Amino acid sequence: MSWYSSERKIKCHCGKGEIIQISESDDWNGHREWSPTIECPECNNKYKVISKTFSDNKAETWTNYYLVPKDFEYDKSRKNVYENMKYGSDFSEYLIVHYSKQILEEVYDTLIKSTSVASLKGDAYRMAIDKKKKTGSCKIGELTAFVKKAIDGFDSYVGNWQQRYNEKQENIQIDRENFEKVKREGILLKI
Ligand SMILES: [Zn+2]
Repeated sequence: MSWYSSERKIKCHCGKGEIIQISESDDWNGHREWSPTIECPECNNKYKVISKTFSDNKAETWTNYYLVPKDFEYDKSRKNVYENMKYGSDFSEYLIVHYSKQILEEVYDTLIKSTSVASLKGDAYRMAIDKKKKTGSCKIGELTAFVKKAIDGFDSYVGNWQQRYNEKQENIQIDRENFEKVKREGILLKI
């Protein structure tokens, strides 16, 4: 497989040099592009290039490049303490990780009034399906006991749904603020 490279150029910010981007394509519609480089000593002293990748709801992705001040820095307080935290094989742990405490409590109220899994709807039905997949069976009494165990253990469980959710929301907020900063301090490269 061979790659064909091409070069795009625009004038740099001060106008005395160029910003150049190399991109490559192959025979099968493959495409890759490198971060643009600032070919101008003056601009290179003042700016650096950063990239931001976007995706739309059709899973198409594209990257925009911005010229930002040399000392530009992102807020690096983004954490992923809980995001990839593993959990044990007990089904109650699966429930604690995948459902909020409120939903667990609502489902518990439904389960104690139900006589068979066939009549379950919504989240209760989803949990029954999960239970069947994870443990091979789903009797209503077993499911009810696991949901109870999940509610009782929820608050003291490190890596519960709530902690994962909160972390995710904080990270979304940090990402949003970082991008606002890029738009405020940066110059979008029309390359
Ligand atoms: Zn320049």
